[in-house]
Formats: sequence, C-alpha cells, structure tokens
Amino acid sequence: MKTSRSYLSTKASQLKPSGIRRFFDLASTMDNVISLGVGEPDFVTPWNVIEASYHSLEQGYTAYTANAGILELRQLIADYLFQSFQVKYKAEEDIIVTVGASQALDLALRAIIDPGDEVIVVEPCFVAYAPTVTLAGGVPVPLETLPENEFKLQPEQIEALVTEKTKALLICSPNNPTGTVLQKEDLNKIAEVVNRHDLIVLSDEIYGELTYDEPYTSFASIRGMKERTLLLSGFSKAFAMTGWRLGYVAGPTELIQAMLKIHQYTIMCASTMAQHGAIEALKNGRQSILEMKKSYQQRRNFVVNSFNEIGLECHRPGGAFYVFPSIKHTGLTSEAFAEQLLQEEKVAVVPGSVFGKGGEGHIRCSYATSLKQLNEAMKRIKRFIERL
Ligand code: PMP
Repeated sequence: MKTSRSYLSTKASQLKPSGIRRFFDLASTMDNVISLGVGEPDFVTPWNVIEASYHSLEQGYTAYTANAGILELRQLIADYLFQSFQVKYKAEEDIIVTVGASQALDLALRAIIDPGDEVIVVEPCFVAYAPTVTLAGGVPVPLETLPENEFKLQPEQIEALVTEKTKALLICSPNNPTGTVLQKEDLNKIAEVVNRHDLIVLSDEIYGELTYDEPYTSFASIRGMKERTLLLSGFSKAFAMTGWRLGYVAGPTELIQAMLKIHQYTIMCASTMAQHGAIEALKNGRQSILEMKKSYQQRRNFVVNSFNEIGLECHRPGGAFYVFPSIKHTGLTSEAFAEQLLQEEKVAVVPGSVFGKGGEGHIRCSYATSLKQLNEAMKRIKRFIERL
C-alpha cells in the first residue's frame, strides 16, 4: 500500500547513485567481459592472514572488542605508521580501528563538520568523498586538478577556494582514479597554505603502500602537520583485504576521542575476526605486500606503454592500481566511450566523469587483473580505437 507521504530525508532523496555501479551491472549481464573497472586487488588475501582469523574463531574470540579496536592491533598500526612513515601515534589514544577507510572518512567528517562548513575536495577523486561530506552536513567544494600538472593539486588552487567557511581539505595520494602521488616537495607547499588558513587535512592514504617509483611520504609526517591531519587508511588495498572491511584513522588525541564517541554509538567496534586477521597481516605480511607490489608495477608499465602506443595519452602514475588515459581526441564523452567499448569489445572501464571535476575526457582503468587479461584488453581497446 502506498503511503501518503515519502519518509525519505532530503539528504537521502538527493543522493545520486554511484556512476560506477551502473557499469558493473551492465557488464555482469554479458559474457566474456574483461573488467578493468573494479577498484580492488585481484589477489586473494594472503593465507596466513586467513588462517589467523580462523584460529581466532576456534579460540572463541567471537565477542565485541574494545570500541577503538584490539589494543595489540592499534599498537601494531602505531608501530607500522612510525616505521613506514615516521609519524608517531599513541595506540591508546590516537588510533581507531574502523570498518574500512570508508568509515574512517565518515567518522572524521561527522566529527569536524558543522552545518554549512566547506570542505575542499581535490578532484577527480574517489566517488564517496563529496556525498560523504554532504551527509555530514558540509558543503563539498571541488578543486579540479589538471592533466598538464599530472593531476597534482597546486597550492594556489587551494588559496583561490578558501573562504571563511572552509574547514578542511580532503586529499588522496596515491590517488584514485589518477594514480598520482604527491611527493614531499608537493606536500610541503600544500602544508604552507594549510597552515596559513588554519585548515585541517583529511589525508586518505589507503594506497600509501602501493607506490612504485619513489618512497611514499605521508602528509602527517610533514613538519607541523601531524596536529592538523586525520590520516585515513586501511587493509583493503595493499593487503588485499577489501571484503574484510577493516581500516583505521590516526590523528590528534582530541579529535580521535571525539570520533570514538560517534564510533561507539554507531558501530561499537570493527569485526573481531577481521581484526585478528589484521594483526597477522601487520606482523608477518611484508613479504606478500612486496610480491603483490612487484606484480602491480609490472602491469602498470605494460598498461601505460600500451595506452600511449594506441594513441590514448596516459601519464605514468606513481601509485595505486589505476591509469587514467585521455580519450579527448576521440570526440566521445567518457560515458559514451565506456558504453561503446563495453558493447562492442566487451571491456569494462569507468568513465572519468563519475570522479568529479576534471574527470571528463578520461577513462579509469584498473590494472589489478592478470597480465594475460590486460594483454587481451589492450588488443580489444586498440581494435576499438582503430575503428572509431
Ligand atoms: N579511499 C579510496 C581512495 C578508495 O579508492 C577506496 C576504495 N575504493 C576507499 C577509500 C575505501 O576503502 P575501504 O575498503 O577501506 O573502505
């Protein structure tokens, strides 16, 4: 029976469905599709991690954990952040284990945003950013990065967007969808503007392990920035654990403690068995990460070279597992390109337009799939371009 009014909130009814899903749904109805569409590793979680999780269940660890997560895991995360990125956090006070980096982002925004506060969102970016800002009551302000700058944000762009309502800057390096990595000198310049305007930075470092050319620098490790940074990360990407739904946020004690209150009322704690897997991942996972990384690097090189040979200009991204070639000269919109490529050659890619400002004119291709599949996909894309 139809009710006389809609019970949906304005926020919920105004949310648009993710543009990525539509392509997955279409691709899933077709046979013999090669998908370069998904944003997750093609590797299965390393066996020792799976086993540790099994064992935790066998030993009866089936109850809630501490709200902020198992202390041993938080200590391992603190050690890892210190050893890898030289940022020092206290396990007891400065870290929360979350349901993926996704929840870390949501928590962070809910803890800092008052209605109408502006958050500068560096685009093209992960599709969840702007909607999550809106749901928290904030106003996302897009900052468009450009291919001629290899999609690196320029500090003067922040300057141009700052108003008295600006509270935060949301960055992601290595970036999804461009793969761009911000180097230490880029971060130093951003830090200077952030300082001047008294902003807080949400730094999504979920792909921080996956850099191929130069060592990774965390934004929190830049001088004076630890106090202004909420570092969002997790186990999904480098540890091949997307389905475990485990991430974390590290930051200044006052903010983390406020986030913990929201977390304890809304989520209680992240999955206990997943936390036990993550403990093993941090204790003994280094070798598996290095092997996966080597494989991604090889695939990146192959895909970047192939796109440039085909004539789809593609910068060489330093990290993550995406390339973002230009399709501008084909005259097609990214959506039409992706749709025709899928129908005619059965290769699924994601139209750049779904990633916000600056995404149009590009397609996102994930190379987290086997070299054999990538080889076949590139042949099909070449055929498609030749026909256009
Ligand atoms: N940030 C970025 C940039 C991502 O690409 C993703 C996943 N696609 C996430 C966050 C969410 O990660 P998680 O699985 O940890 O929630």
